[in-house]
Amino acid sequence: MEPQRSPLLEVKGNIELKRALAKAPSRLPLPGSRLKRGPDQMEEDLEPEKKRTRGLGTKVATSRPRATALTTVPQTQGQTAVPKVPRKTGPRCSTAVATVLKNQKPGPAVPAQKPGTTAAPPVVGRKKPSKRPAWDLKGQLCDLNAELKCCRERTQLLDQENQQLRNQLREAQQQATELGAERRTLEEELARMRAQAEQGQRELGNLSARVLELEERLGTQEGLVQELQKEQLELQEERRGLAARLEEQEGRLQASEAALSGSQAEVASLRQEAAAQAALLAKREERLHGLEMERRRLHNQLQELKGNVRVFCRVRPVLPGESTPPSGFLLFPSGPSGPSDPPTRLSLSRSDERRGTLSGAPAAPTRHDFSFDRVFPPGSGQDEVFEEISMLVQSALDGYPVCIFAYGQTGSGKTFTMEGGPGGDPQVEGLIPRALRHLFSVAQELSGQGWTYSFVASYVEIYNETVRDLLATGTRKGHGGECEIRRAGPGSEELTVTNARYVPVSCEREVEALLHLARQNRAVARTAQNERSSRSHSVFQLQISGEHAGRGLQCAAPLSLVDLAGSERLDPGLALGPGERERLRETQAINSSLSTLGLVIMALSNKESHVPYRNSKLTYLLQNSLGGSAKMLMFVNISPLEENVSESLNSLRFASKVNQCVIGTAQANRK
Ligand code: ADP
Ligand code: MG
Repeated sequence: MEPQRSPLLEVKGNIELKRALAKAPSRLPLPGSRLKRGPDQMEEDLEPEKKRTRGLGTKVATSRPRATALTTVPQTQGQTAVPKVPRKTGPRCSTAVATVLKNQKPGPAVPAQKPGTTAAPPVVGRKKPSKRPAWDLKGQLCDLNAELKCCRERTQLLDQENQQLRNQLREAQQQATELGAERRTLEEELARMRAQAEQGQRELGNLSARVLELEERLGTQEGLVQELQKEQLELQEERRGLAARLEEQEGRLQASEAALSGSQAEVASLRQEAAAQAALLAKREERLHGLEMERRRLHNQLQELKGNVRVFCRVRPVLPGESTPPSGFLLFPSGPSGPSDPPTRLSLSRSDERRGTLSGAPAAPTRHDFSFDRVFPPGSGQDEVFEEISMLVQSALDGYPVCIFAYGQTGSGKTFTMEGGPGGDPQVEGLIPRALRHLFSVAQELSGQGWTYSFVASYVEIYNETVRDLLATGTRKGHGGECEIRRAGPGSEELTVTNARYVPVSCEREVEALLHLARQNRAVARTAQNERSSRSHSVFQLQISGEHAGRGLQCAAPLSLVDLAGSERLDPGLALGPGERERLRETQAINSSLSTLGLVIMALSNKESHVPYRNSKLTYLLQNSLGGSAKMLMFVNISPLEENVSESLNSLRFASKVNQCVIGTAQANRK
């Protein structure tokens, strides 16, 4: 028997279920779209699904609105057995069906029905039979049977429905399982997506950090770029400046090139000119050399004309503390041309006390006149004296031996003339330092013409016919062992003094040092009674050697500057004590050497075959500086004092004799 069921209810329930089931899958996210969506979006998609799934029961329940109204019936979760059908008719049957329906879809959220709505009639259109009288048992039975039949039909219907619902439940469960699987898949996917999202987040974080870093780098780079731009600007500015400078330099270069080419042309012409000048110069040099040789020849001729033996007389001034001589004692008559002429004459007046007049009055003083090559009165300065002899120094450089003597009694000014006055005052410098200075400067000038000069100095004293070195140093100082005069070699004309120092000199300072050393040596040898320097001859010799390498010319000559020993004689009336005897021996030696010097000069002048050089150490040492080509100059130094008149006359007489000598034509010592 087909259970009676409301077709409307059934259809509606089915439609609701189907709608719910049919709609569910369509709400699932599409596989292709899952990855594209964000986790949040997926969650959102998932939520309504869950809600829907959860709300399935509700929808099912709501599809049976009437059934839910019967919630008052006690029920058991999961109970599937059909409840016992109550014997009551009509509404009871409807209530059972509602209960079954309710038990089919248990849900936590059954929407509450309004109490009033539960009273809806389960079967529409069926009239409730009117109540039978108690006695109508048959009728009652009939009614009951009809009701039973109805109930059975309904039971059957409900069973079917139950079956359907079970099927639906299975389907739903299956669907739920599927949905669960799908949910898990989705959850896994969600987890994966989350992991991906986290990964993404991390990557995003990394990327953000990287972005930050890059931004930072960008900032740095931008700064750098700005700097570089600034630098570029500066460089551009500099480049502009350099370009301007370059342009300027190029302009200058062009100008310089133009100037250079002009200069080159000029140089070429100058070279030509220089070549012409060089040729001219060579010609002139040749001519100059010829002139120099001519000058030497003429100079020598002039010196010879002046006389190879010349005598200058020098009278020293009266020193402080000395008695002034009577006026007219010494006179210096002017030359033939008047006072402008350099004086050459000297007259000395001597009153001879031994000669008396018959009346007893003193005899008139005797005038002694002398004439020399030059006379220097007391006021003459050292420079004036040197001027006269500088020509002789030139002769020495030209290769002629030169010898200058200072002759006179002790205290007449010989040392002053030769070496100079005390105190190192340049004004009172003597002939030796002046001559050497002149030599050095003339040699320097001649070096321009190709001449090279060298000078070697020696300084000895001859005392009592013994030779001593005045340049001795160290332990020999002051004593300077005995020296011998020897020939430089067998057959050689040159003489040397053994044990004596020969010192090369090239400047004034070196000469000054040598003169200083000589003074020291003399001071050590000096004794209280005997001023040895006055009793000995001091011989300063300078060997001059010149060479003209270009022309293969050589010249050599000695320049001798001799400060002779005092020429005074011993007073014949003096008693001969032991000191005097010594003094006599000294004086005899001095006189002997001085007279030998006179004899040698005489012999040379008279061109005698024998010249007694060997008779004294002095003449022996000076033999190469006397005679022949040599130039000789003798200073006769005179004291201005009246008390020295006798010695002065002796000196003047000796000098006059020398002055009369003319020694043969000198020849330059050319090799
Ligand atoms: P000598 O060497 O002949 O013995 P000095 O040269 O020693 O004589 O001179 C004796 C003194 O006279 C020294 O004090 C010197 O300074 C001085 N004397 C010599 N000649 C001159 C002069 N021309 N002018 C100034 N003083 C001079
Ligand atoms: Mg002296």
